[in-house]
Amino acid sequence: MSFFDEMEQRLNAPGDFAQAYVIAHEVGHHIQKLMGITDQVDRLRRQLPTEEFNKYSVRLELQADFLAGVWAHHSQQMTRMMESGDLEEALNAANAIGDDRLQKQQTGRVVPDSFTHGTSEQRMRWFRKGFDTGDLQQGDTFNANPL
Ligand SMILES: [Zn+2]
Repeated sequence: MSFFDEMEQRLNAPGDFAQAYVIAHEVGHHIQKLMGITDQVDRLRRQLPTEEFNKYSVRLELQADFLAGVWAHHSQQMTRMMESGDLEEALNAANAIGDDRLQKQQTGRVVPDSFTHGTSEQRMRWFRKGFDTGDLQQGDTFNANPL
């Protein structure tokens, strides 16, 4: 809950659907665990130097953003729960928690090799792709090039 306060107050990303995006992202990680993707990435974590591993971390996180978008797509189709402005709230939140944006705020510098979650642009784009397609097959961030 404190992260929601931080999103609202410090990151300027308020709204119930911004929070829904964050929760759906975490559920996305659970799906990755069930699919065996997390374990594969964890093996790389033990094998690779940090800078090299970070690239896989970014792909894992962007896939969780994609899965959050897939959730929103299907929830909306089934229940029409989204209100006007909700999609924008989620995209604004994805924008607010991009590595480049956070680093710039915190240190005034941007160090791409240290990214672990992806840029604001990437986070918005992968959430949006999941939302627009609702299709799990479109979410292979590990083979996407460019990411
Ligand atoms: Zn995550």
